[in-house]
Amino acid sequence: MKLHEYQARDILARQGIPVTGGGVATTPDDVRRIAEAIGGRVVVKAQVFVGGRGKAGGIALADTPADAEAAARRILGMNIKGLTVEKVLVAEAITYEREIYLGVVMDRATRAIVLMASAEGGVEIEEVARTNPDAIVKIAAHPMLGLLDFQARDLAFGIGLRDARQVRQFAQIASALYRIYMETDATLAEINPLVVKADGSLQALDSKIVLDDSALFRHPELEALRDSSDEPEAERRAREAGITYIKLDGDIGCMVNGAGLAMATMDVVKLYGGEPANFLDIGGGAGKEKVKAALQIILSDPNVRAVMFNIFGGITRVDEVARGIVAALAEVPTSVPMIARLVGTNEVEGRRILAESTLIPAATLAEAAEKAVAAARTS
Ligand code: GDP
Ligand code: MN
Repeated sequence: MKLHEYQARDILARQGIPVTGGGVATTPDDVRRIAEAIGGRVVVKAQVFVGGRGKAGGIALADTPADAEAAARRILGMNIKGLTVEKVLVAEAITYEREIYLGVVMDRATRAIVLMASAEGGVEIEEVARTNPDAIVKIAAHPMLGLLDFQARDLAFGIGLRDARQVRQFAQIASALYRIYMETDATLAEINPLVVKADGSLQALDSKIVLDDSALFRHPELEALRDSSDEPEAERRAREAGITYIKLDGDIGCMVNGAGLAMATMDVVKLYGGEPANFLDIGGGAGKEKVKAALQIILSDPNVRAVMFNIFGGITRVDEVARGIVAALAEVPTSVPMIARLVGTNEVEGRRILAESTLIPAATLAEAAEKAVAAARTS
């Protein structure tokens, strides 16, 4: 789950990281009022869950409250990478000399939580990562001891900070960001840009926090911050139905029970030359309603040209799944070909139910994948 910039900013502020004040607004009038209260130059920033808002025109500096209102008129309702801007953050505009990048991520390659920093922060950080990776300094936190003070200082030295006060402040900010990452069970916490002001002090101008959905049950106060307006419809429905769904770019929809089996299914689809349209795990013991929801979610993707069911009935009963498929097809008529490999508990009854439908049966996973790939090519 992603947090909006203004929500992440509040978390940073609570941990003592210097951030810019200001308020959130949904109308140009409110933007003007906030700008009047701040006084002086302000920045109006679109609150949408995408990076690169600046480049997309979603961030504007305004010298007067009237300018801020005009900027808000333009930005509110604007479409940035498919998302409509419904809220803006209005904050005091900061004058600065340099932009630094600071991030905390889970690095699966080194199996550690890694802090990354770069003296070349700002909107070109992806470009820096691609063309000049050496400009990004990385330090792995100790799995038991956490981020040690000397490591935070090393990170500061690594990006060329030398002034003692600045190094100390940077180390404090890095430690606080690491603490936030750990305490909120985040998968990403970053500040970009962290700016150096004329007096040498540091301030966070933009931050991003992504939370681990699987750990959200431990943080009801963070779960309460969820903004479903920006969540893709299919993902929202999957979450509400308790289905794990990840959209991919291919054309073969997959419905599987169990995460491991779902991954194996995708591998076999690819082995037969196909491209999965999604990862979908309906979970153990899934009943009719869940199957129906899953099928509707899969079919809501216009790229899907064939659907493949791979159900291994253990606790999940194959006949229940078969009934769910039939019920879903009755409600969502579709011409998309469907291939089903259903084995395990109550499979005879399951097969009998499906024999009366238009589903193409397959005895093995390989056969199902082969048929799904062929069906996607010709449908
Ligand atoms: P992003 O493009 O979505 O990452 O949004 P950011 O909040 O990082 O803003 C992008 C850029 O806008 C920054 O790198 C700055 O150049 C500029 N910017 C944002 N806030 C301020 C501010 O308070 N003052 C000034 N001068 N520029 C700002
Ligand atoms: Mn940014």
